[in-house]
Amino acid sequence: MKNLLTAPVLVLNANYEPLNVCTTKRAVGLMFTEKATMLENGRGFIRSVSMNFPAPSVIRLGRMIKRPRPSVKLTKSEVFRRDHYTCQYCGQRGEELTIDHIVPRSKDGPHTWNNLITACPKCNIKKGGRTAKEANMHLLSVPKTPSASARYMFGKYLNSNETWLPYIEGW
Ligand SMILES: [Zn+2]
Repeated sequence: MKNLLTAPVLVLNANYEPLNVCTTKRAVGLMFTEKATMLENGRGFIRSVSMNFPAPSVIRLGRMIKRPRPSVKLTKSEVFRRDHYTCQYCGQRGEELTIDHIVPRSKDGPHTWNNLITACPKCNIKKGGRTAKEANMHLLSVPKTPSASARYMFGKYLNSNETWLPYIEGW
């Protein structure tokens, strides 16, 4: 019961644009107060003493929400995800990953998508306080700001929430 109430639900704007993810508990609250309607019931029913309430996996808001253009927040885990959890110097995939500043902070390298990449500890140590150029270490790809497509934004949920896919494609 607890797991079901905290399971993620995809929230769509009134125009079907994917907005965010909330808990089932919150989604049921929105449906109960008629602020949202259920589009997918992927998770069976929430049973209480008096009733069975369908557990949504996708809901749509009745009223349009205005919001700024979405962007991917620059965090360590988002850099790893952009780089497919792969060291951008040697191509090794791993669990022990680090963040490397291509131009080190000691040389005024900025904290930006273009200057941060995923590196394995070995490559990070090898590179040390040098720039990638100075260390003669080549990047597998040019680091960019990831596009804030719905596919990217909600990608981490898709493995366990395949029913979301049709609502996410194209946004
Ligand atoms: Zn490496």
